[in-house]
Amino acid sequence: MKRSYVIKPELEKIYPVISHGKGIYLFDQEGKRYIDGCSGAVTVSIGHAVDEVVEAMYAQAKEVSFAYRSHFSSEAVEELGAKLAEWAPGSLNWTFFVSSGSEATETAQKIAIQYWQERGKPTKNRIISRWMSYHGITMGALSMSGHVLRRKRFVPLLEDYPTISAPYPYRKPDGVSLEDYALQCANELETAILRVGPEQVAAFIAEPVIGASGGAVVPPDGYFQRIREICDKYEVLFIADEVMTGIGRTGKAFGIDHWGVVPDMITLGKGMSSGYTPMAATVVSDEIIETIKNGSGLIMAGHTYSANPQSAAVSLAVLKYVEKHSLFEKAAEQGAYLLERLQELAAELPLIGDARGLGMLCGLEFVKDKDTKEPFPLSHNVSGRVIAKAFEKGLLVYPAVGGLEGIAGDSVIIAPPLTITKAEIDELIGLLKGAVESVQQELR
Ligand code: PLP
Repeated sequence: MKRSYVIKPELEKIYPVISHGKGIYLFDQEGKRYIDGCSGAVTVSIGHAVDEVVEAMYAQAKEVSFAYRSHFSSEAVEELGAKLAEWAPGSLNWTFFVSSGSEATETAQKIAIQYWQERGKPTKNRIISRWMSYHGITMGALSMSGHVLRRKRFVPLLEDYPTISAPYPYRKPDGVSLEDYALQCANELETAILRVGPEQVAAFIAEPVIGASGGAVVPPDGYFQRIREICDKYEVLFIADEVMTGIGRTGKAFGIDHWGVVPDMITLGKGMSSGYTPMAATVVSDEIIETIKNGSGLIMAGHTYSANPQSAAVSLAVLKYVEKHSLFEKAAEQGAYLLERLQELAAELPLIGDARGLGMLCGLEFVKDKDTKEPFPLSHNVSGRVIAKAFEKGLLVYPAVGGLEGIAGDSVIIAPPLTITKAEIDELIGLLKGAVESVQQELR
């Protein structure tokens, strides 16, 4: 290739050029085939090059691609909003459309602050989040994120929001039951609210299953139920960040559905359009919308591409595909098989300390010593090396490293499209095993 003028994540690296994709596979221009074992960035949940989506994209483009949201609504966006209201729990019936997960969480942050202003409580403007978390890369979203690696250059410019620990069952203190651990972690929220003062706290934000900063860390039962109780007690809104977990990824419509808890807002992205177009959303409860409607009547957020008909039509086609092919159920079923195969690998390979996950969102954590769970120094770049080896072998896996930099969390995410078959999972496991074994050899 001639010289590149495109800024890539690693400036010196030469990236292969993508040619095409089909189902769980991607092909580069050299003809090399890759299993998309992480759906890109846990995004392509229905697989690549699905005809129905491409047709919906074309049909909408022939009519109109862009109409500004302050001028027009569109059939596609109305139908999409209705579908999300049908799937979302409780009274989460209203959707604000944006184009990325970071915009979705930042919109939720703003709506939370505005909601309390409209209720005459303008001092409620702090957002509590968790140290092990990732809610996006823009400054507001990063302020709510704990991801050390992504924050550290910008810390002086970020809002100094309070954080609490997230439950991390693999590293739970010895001698404490999972049940008690869940409550201890949740009760940290109460302590944080009381320390800051309930009159200062607008919302608490959490990922139902921790993604990029932890590698598919699933909370114990009881955790989110207690979080909901605490939020209710102190008038704090609960935002479930489902950018990674939403739209069936964990085997239910939303990750939080596993615990029967109803948040006040849900943020979505990634799987919402399966990567066919940039699309994301903040789904909001009746109570919040009614309050704003009866107050200023105007939500102070929005972007040029919010609710554009083109992205809405594509996302709607994706949701219809998910429904038609029962992909929530498939993710639960095939995800259980994937986890079983990953746990076999963990039992066999000394480098893997933990294999965990929920539905089709799984993770492996690498450790130096399985008994003590001592992590490798980050300078060993173990997960980076596994990712590179897997790439060489034709398998894509996603990094989840640097969330708790220097403490733990040298992990990768395995999250293939929800459409993956058992035979394809076996193929994925074979390549992954080879990659981990190669890195194990190097580290000897
Ligand atoms: N929230 C969560 C839970 C995420 O995993 C991500 C991205 O990985 C984001 C927010 C940010 O989304 P985006 O990269 O689309 O801005």
